[in-house]
Amino acid sequence: MTKKIIVAIDGYSSCGKSSMARTLARAIDYIYVDTGAMYRGVTLFALRRGFIREGVIQEAELREALNEVSLSFRQSHEGATPELYLNGENVEKEIRTMEVASFVSPIAALGFVREFLTAQQQAFGAEGGIVMDGRDIGTAVFPQAELKVFVTADPVIRAERRLAELRGKGDSKITLEEVLENLRQRDYIDTHREVAPLRQAEDARVLDNSHLTHDEQDALLRSYFEEALAKA
Ligand code: C5P
Repeated sequence: MTKKIIVAIDGYSSCGKSSMARTLARAIDYIYVDTGAMYRGVTLFALRRGFIREGVIQEAELREALNEVSLSFRQSHEGATPELYLNGENVEKEIRTMEVASFVSPIAALGFVREFLTAQQQAFGAEGGIVMDGRDIGTAVFPQAELKVFVTADPVIRAERRLAELRGKGDSKITLEEVLENLRQRDYIDTHREVAPLRQAEDARVLDNSHLTHDEQDALLRSYFEEALAKA
């Protein structure tokens, strides 16, 4: 039987990690886990329960209620993108709003939230055969991953891509500046937090996709995967 490895994909916000991770997972028949969706799920839970008041996260209340959060990924059909369910409800759309985006990084900086989600992520990957994307996968969740990729791209290009995505989903009011500002803030918080900050693992391969097409970046990632699998 061919060995199944762990592929850890980390990098800044909106640089196409999820899309390349998903494409790779589909091509090699591995499980894909979007850990950003899990942090967004906890953020949505906190917003709905009123644990963020006047922009302030009520940490003690969130900590107390965290055991009421049940997250899972389900696919509508084979080959479909896994969608996030929060306590049995499909929240894939709700977790992608700017409101969630503006609180997710401070929520993700909380140690008890990271502990809660990291344990679930490690359980998903216990048997290998997984492609996981996030900010701390190669450094904290799976430091033993056979392939670590650190994805980066020019911030303005990232903001333009994200804007196109939001526009595509019907948000016609948002401006490039607002999206860019949100990305900058998230990158800052993600790289400066105390627990599991975003950083490039020493043994990660860097993939800058600023000037790559989807097909080019997918092919590059696939070649990294084949090399890692051959060595495993
Ligand atoms: O990947 P995505 O942009 O959906 O992630 C949303 C946010 O969740 C990130 O900006 C980051 O603050 C947080 N995150 C994290 N660790 C991960 C994945 C996401 O802190 N492994």
